[in-house]
Amino acid sequence: MRAPYRRTTALAAALAVVSLTSAACGGSGAPAAAPSRSAAASSASASPSPAADPAAVKANELGQIPVLMYHQLVAQPRGVYDQTPAQYKAELESVYAHGFRTVTAAALVAGKIDLPAGQKPVVLTFDDSTVSQYGELPDGSVDPSSAVGILLAVANKHGDDSPVATFYVNADPFAGKDAYLAKLVALGMELGDHTASHANLKQLDDAGVQRELREGLAVITKAAPDAVVTTMALPLGVRPRNKALAAKGSGYSFAGVMAVGSNPAPSPYSARFNPMYVPRIRSGLRTGDQAFTSTDWLPQLYSGKVSPYVSDGDPDLVSFPRSAAGRLNPRFASSARPY
Ligand SMILES: [Zn+2]
Repeated sequence: MRAPYRRTTALAAALAVVSLTSAACGGSGAPAAAPSRSAAASSASASPSPAADPAAVKANELGQIPVLMYHQLVAQPRGVYDQTPAQYKAELESVYAHGFRTVTAAALVAGKIDLPAGQKPVVLTFDDSTVSQYGELPDGSVDPSSAVGILLAVANKHGDDSPVATFYVNADPFAGKDAYLAKLVALGMELGDHTASHANLKQLDDAGVQRELREGLAVITKAAPDAVVTTMALPLGVRPRNKALAAKGSGYSFAGVMAVGSNPAPSPYSARFNPMYVPRIRSGLRTGDQAFTSTDWLPQLYSGKVSPYVSDGDPDLVSFPRSAAGRLNPRFASSARPY
């Protein structure tokens, strides 16, 4: 039902390529689940169901995509990085109610966004692998008060049984509970590299940058061998002096680099999209600085003041109003379906 819309054959193929070229990659699900999802997607795309009229669903696959950056859920947020559990839940509720559905960072940077017609992608990211993001009850089930537990509940309420989020983790994730990484993968969540020690990469030499990213990746692959790590997030949003080393170095190769702040990301089919520096929206209380938090951006995406990406329901075509045609990356010209 929903899964085929999320994990396409094309996406599975793209991720498979990445997994061959890097030590690991980031996917939307455990490899064990991938074949059945891919098979389902194949049969779905092979069926003769006609594509939706892009104008009827106001498809705009050159629209913008919110990549929300979360940190901790705390009772007393102190800034733009944290929320209370209630604020976080309310934000997810509003995102879902406005027709957004989750996709992974891997899907974003690969340009393989496969949602039903009329739905809008949102990427949920969680940095620093802190304890409020994921926890378990004594019986091993997901703690419903954790960020993942709240996401599952909100998604299920809106008919989505397979929400995804991307977790950028450091060494000693979740206060030493490395085993949680495999649990997250089993839940269909994606894992990404955030360096071993949350290093300021600008302060390191080239060898140090590569060591941090290699060791950060090793934390994931050791605890969650099934994880497919496709992207990294820059600690503090700071790039290394040798910028290329954020994505590729000795022992690692990433298809995407996630930044910090401040605006929605361009569509991956837009000429403005740079997978090597993907902006993320800080999600937390607005504290005087404007236009940098979800509190500011989400209402603009809801109202259309900022045009959101709206799916046409066909992962092989890029549909958009003719007025937006100037934004198309020429690389996707053969897939373009302006209307
Ligand atoms: Zn961080």
